[in-house]
Amino acid sequence: MSAFKSYKTTCSYCGVGCGIIAKKDPKGVITVEGDPDHPVNKGMLCSKGMNLHHVVQDKSDRILYPEMRWSKGHDRQRVSWDQALDRAVSVFSTMIDKYGSDSIGFYVSGQCLTEEYYLVNKLTKGFIGTNNIDTNSRLCMSSAVVGYKQALGEDSVPVAYEDIELADCFMIAGANPAWCHPILFRRIEAHKEKNPNTKIIVVDPRKTQSCDIADLHLQILPGTDVILYNAIAKRLIDRKRIDKSFIANHTDNFEALKASLQSVSLTEAAKTCGITIAEIKKAASYIGDAKGFITLWAMGLNQSSIGVNKNNALLNLSLLTGHIGKPGSGPFSLTGQPNAMGGREVGGMANLLAAHKDLSNDHHRREVSNFWGGKEISAKPGLTATEMFDALESGKLKAIWIICTNPLVSLPNANKVEKALKNAKFVVVQDISHRSETVEYADLLLPAAGWAEKEGTMTNSERRVTYLNKVVDPPGEAISDSEILWNFARRMGYKGFDYSSVEEVYKEHCILTKGTNIDISGLNYNRLKVEGSFQWPVPENTHSGTSRLFENKRFYTDTGNAKFVVPRFTKPTSEMITEKYPLILTTGRVRDQWHTRTKTGKVNRLLTHIPSPYLEINRVDAYLHKVKDGDIALVESKRGKVQVKIKVSDAINKGVVFLPMHWGKVLGNDFGRANNLTTNIVDPISKEPDFKFSAVRVTKFVKP
Ligand code: SF4
Repeated sequence: MSAFKSYKTTCSYCGVGCGIIAKKDPKGVITVEGDPDHPVNKGMLCSKGMNLHHVVQDKSDRILYPEMRWSKGHDRQRVSWDQALDRAVSVFSTMIDKYGSDSIGFYVSGQCLTEEYYLVNKLTKGFIGTNNIDTNSRLCMSSAVVGYKQALGEDSVPVAYEDIELADCFMIAGANPAWCHPILFRRIEAHKEKNPNTKIIVVDPRKTQSCDIADLHLQILPGTDVILYNAIAKRLIDRKRIDKSFIANHTDNFEALKASLQSVSLTEAAKTCGITIAEIKKAASYIGDAKGFITLWAMGLNQSSIGVNKNNALLNLSLLTGHIGKPGSGPFSLTGQPNAMGGREVGGMANLLAAHKDLSNDHHRREVSNFWGGKEISAKPGLTATEMFDALESGKLKAIWIICTNPLVSLPNANKVEKALKNAKFVVVQDISHRSETVEYADLLLPAAGWAEKEGTMTNSERRVTYLNKVVDPPGEAISDSEILWNFARRMGYKGFDYSSVEEVYKEHCILTKGTNIDISGLNYNRLKVEGSFQWPVPENTHSGTSRLFENKRFYTDTGNAKFVVPRFTKPTSEMITEKYPLILTTGRVRDQWHTRTKTGKVNRLLTHIPSPYLEINRVDAYLHKVKDGDIALVESKRGKVQVKIKVSDAINKGVVFLPMHWGKVLGNDFGRANNLTTNIVDPISKEPDFKFSAVRVTKFVKP
């Protein structure tokens, strides 16, 4: 018999959701390998997933016990859990009594497990009585959520990964899955290898690694996406390459879309987008010829001042061609985080309600508050991610509780975030690692268990729920986020938090979904452990899950039809470039780093690929701005500056520069923190920040 014990779990990085087998030796040392039976990755793992065990083994950076500042301006000191939670209760109760429930907020993460996400939403919306609970998922997919709701009636990803092997045309828009969703990309690549006639269109202002398999790279200028998709739509309509029967029987608002496209000129569109008319025509002909057409998109669309409009315009292409609710077809937004989808299930944002119920619907709010047995849920949406930090800065929000995220590096306009944290009356940080720069501002620091140190569930990009096993005990006095939350809630005197296990939280979540479009009342831990992962809905305990939505062509809108939404804005309402700030900064990920590097930054093997931040700049711009490859440049915007190494490249358009978003403090200063530069502009509906468009200037750095 092997001395190793094996545990099935899921990767805690991207939304692909690869299955992992963690093996533990008798000394408690763990190693990981891809789960060959998991339908997502079939044994494969990317570089990040392969090195997950190093994150668990290396405890040198871990927060091991609660720490507290007895008063502002003093160092934090080690305290017991009782002292820490009593302090949290005393401060939050005082704030609520003195300033009202809306004076406090919770800011959480798409890396939280579904049970944790559920609990913090129940606590905030159902008991504290404020909807000031938002998540860093606001920064990556809130525009997609709105797009889906407007077009399909609900936030529902219709596609499954198995559709990849059935499609013959892909449009990868504003995404670089080769680096950011590697195993998903590997499946597309393998499919293309087997079926060379499969067409792949990549839309991106940068020539990324995903272009390696592209038949057509539409290297558009930043922000011109809607113009491109409208031009393709117009071409499809003009050439009669649309699905008339689907449009007539299963959609609304086609005539309005058609009318809005009347004035679209391919010549103008090509000029504005910086591509050729022939390229637009080619894209339309690939899509028009397709038997199975999948659009895949991520932050390039969502993180924009017109992110919702970009989603609307792209979704229209799937509806025009009837490529939804059938094999190998559909609009597929990729989630960046492992449990962004689980967070959406539990209503993990300031404007959402648990179980995909509607915060603005009186009946839904009553239903949820009756189920929870707490306060009446407020109809007023809470503060979103950036609004929360604005309110901290202005003093409207007094206290914030930050869980599993590092806003000091990940939010836009980081210097403003820093001011907000300094100005806050009380900051709680609940996390695993001292590597998070936000920890510095914690008045109360709570040690949480990390991946493999707790059990729970997550839902990946294709609605697949997977159980994560606990493999090892957390170090020091760290406990799971669920335990921290329910301990706090009990001390606040709230009824309904007397759970004895995380499984009980999951059961409650599943019951609340009964009868909804995301019904998972047929799921439980036992099924997930024994039978593996399931795609929702799973309404019965004999139900095997739902790989594809809308096969019956009934959508979740009032009419049952999908809706064409005419994008309100075609051109971005982003910051304008000027003579002083003539370049457009776009930010994004690199292959081997994850978010703000609190985990990947400590794995040596992951540092070999790209060890430090860099500014990618076109050769012509480098010449014009007098910088050379390898120079240290000063990059400035109206909000701040960074010093960063120059990488001259032909892969990026003239007029655009790229800076990875991962780095915070390097060598003790904020040398490469991209968000020193980014704007506060957000999409007016989704409130997702415009990370892909900030005006900057680049000069060679000269030591003062
Ligand atoms: Fe993890 Fe994503 Fe890599 Fe899969 S593709 S191993 S989920 S980081």
